[in-house]
Amino acid sequence: MAAVHLEGLTACRRCQRLVDYIAALPPSRGRTRADYHNGPVPGFGDIQARVAIVGLAPGAHGANRTGRPFTGDGAGDFMYPLLHAAGFSNQPTATDATDSLMLHDLYIANAVRCVPPANKPLPAEFTACRPWLQQELAALPRLQVIIALGRGSFDSCLRHFQATGQIERIADYAFAHGAHYRLPSGLHLVACYHTSRYNVQTRRMTATMFNELLAQVKGLVSTET
Ligand code: SF4
Repeated sequence: MAAVHLEGLTACRRCQRLVDYIAALPPSRGRTRADYHNGPVPGFGDIQARVAIVGLAPGAHGANRTGRPFTGDGAGDFMYPLLHAAGFSNQPTATDATDSLMLHDLYIANAVRCVPPANKPLPAEFTACRPWLQQELAALPRLQVIIALGRGSFDSCLRHFQATGQIERIADYAFAHGAHYRLPSGLHLVACYHTSRYNVQTRRMTATMFNELLAQVKGLVSTET
């Protein structure tokens, strides 16, 4: 599966709290630390994608273990079958980084690339990691729609847009599931509740909601590029 090359990402140590957290993170039952990626997790997908999903951060025993976003945890187990049904991938499952998953017209990355304690990056960690996100998004030449999963991701995308002169006031863009904004550049931003296991279990996020959002997104992409 393709990925935008991010020179230096593997060795990035800008966030000492996250580096320390990873160094001490115990493996899940039946696994050893050797089974874990335990480092910055790059995005992956179709470089010619018109759609990008920006999640929050790697899950401790999902992406932080497998080295691929939303792979090997509950959030991915919920999301990938629905992405496949919507035509965004070649298979409905994502188990590890060598499972032959190919994304079509879709790129997936996280706002923060190292796993944070309690799934909660600090504002400074979003800021530190945003240049990597900016590099990835800038390397997708046909990008038309960004789906921001969760408020943290949505806010980080807005700060990226502001820093790159695409928007003026962040306060003009409120987060709500399904909220859609067209930026002056023509890029679409769609807000989505996160597909975390907690949100799915509490039915804050359902398959119907995610399917409807994907249909909304497919209606936004144009075939002009
Ligand atoms: S979260 Fe991002 S900026 Fe911070 S150490 Fe990891 S890769 Fe580097």
